[in-house]
Amino acid sequence: MILSKENRTPRAAFVIAAGGTGTRMNASVPKQFLALDGKPILLRTAESCAALEEVAQVVVALPPEHIPQAEAVFSSHPLRVPVACVPGGENRQASVRNGCRRVGPGVDVILVHDAVRPLCPREVMRRVLDAAWEKGAAVPGLPATETIQRVSRSGRVLKTPPREELYAIQTPQAFHAKLLAEALDRAAREGFLGTDESSVVRWAGHPVAVVEGAPENIKITRPLDMRLARLLLQARAGRGGASGEGPGDGQGEVDMAAGGDWRIGQGLDYHRFVEGRKLILGGVEIPFEKGLDGHSDADALLHAVCDALLGAAALGDIGRHFPDTDPAWRGRDSMFFLKAVREKVEAAGWRVGNVDATLLLQRPKIAPHAEAMRRNIAGALGIDMRAVSVKATTTEGMNAEGRGEGVSAQAVALICR
Ligand code: MG
Repeated sequence: MILSKENRTPRAAFVIAAGGTGTRMNASVPKQFLALDGKPILLRTAESCAALEEVAQVVVALPPEHIPQAEAVFSSHPLRVPVACVPGGENRQASVRNGCRRVGPGVDVILVHDAVRPLCPREVMRRVLDAAWEKGAAVPGLPATETIQRVSRSGRVLKTPPREELYAIQTPQAFHAKLLAEALDRAAREGFLGTDESSVVRWAGHPVAVVEGAPENIKITRPLDMRLARLLLQARAGRGGASGEGPGDGQGEVDMAAGGDWRIGQGLDYHRFVEGRKLILGGVEIPFEKGLDGHSDADALLHAVCDALLGAAALGDIGRHFPDTDPAWRGRDSMFFLKAVREKVEAAGWRVGNVDATLLLQRPKIAPHAEAMRRNIAGALGIDMRAVSVKATTTEGMNAEGRGEGVSAQAVALICR
């Protein structure tokens, strides 16, 4: 097949492979949904793809169970071009093949990109697109800077290949759409599994050009990559240095002075006192003669905080995410819900700023437990305790709370990009 460049710019589509489970990141969310500077990595990657003007479509291939989360991210942050989330296959190659099938007609070049490379410079995408348009297939690569040895399984050096022949190959890898589709179909029929798309295309008999990649086009695989990515983003934004580094999992404090995008949410919850249940509020078991009735542990305070956070992100309410008709949530510790809500809010591109909550009840006294409640909430949300307030009031004997029939809770939460 002769693939010469026609006298026009190509129409391009990105297929983003987002199959990873993130086991190396020690995170409970797949790494592509981890927040990098307040935005899911997948969203950052997709935005960088859509910013290339030749791009008419973005397709994300990911495990079926992650599709609702990805769709929620893209519906709250629409891209410049249509984005489709398609179920991946049993390996990357099958996933990319599914993604390619979703690419619309009239697309000349497909760029296949890793979901966890959010920092690929525009000029690398352009170089690889231009080279593929001209030659059929192209990948970005970096010459090896370290000596690379072939090593035996027992850990002995076997061979030192000449360094000038060694390149680290990155993504996006770009191909004429038809060439890639045919190579992937043939590989599926004949049972060939390549380590990347370019190896499949080469196996199918087409040469692959290498263009210059970029060192900052890192693949976020380990926790160290996350720190590095954050530093690179800060450098791009002109913030420089490590001053914005947050503690532990890297969630820094919300930078109000930066004039970011903020949202506020409120949450309310009510539970009745009954005999024979523990009283749990703010994740703290409080000695009392009654407890609160409910499907879960009936922690009205945490439920109100959850609803405030979900409300701020316009993600519905706790009943929608954890319906009380589902036996899976029976008797659940509400700290679980709060952590899950944090993950949903962060996956939608937000980070939690602060929470202020008020309990309304006649008895028992809350003040002795307020600090433990704040610590629990701050811990679940990954924020400083100073950003969490818990207070309580009686209702002077008025209304149901005042008559000791139950407890209500109110919360407000601020979230920020
Ligand atoms: Mg409730």
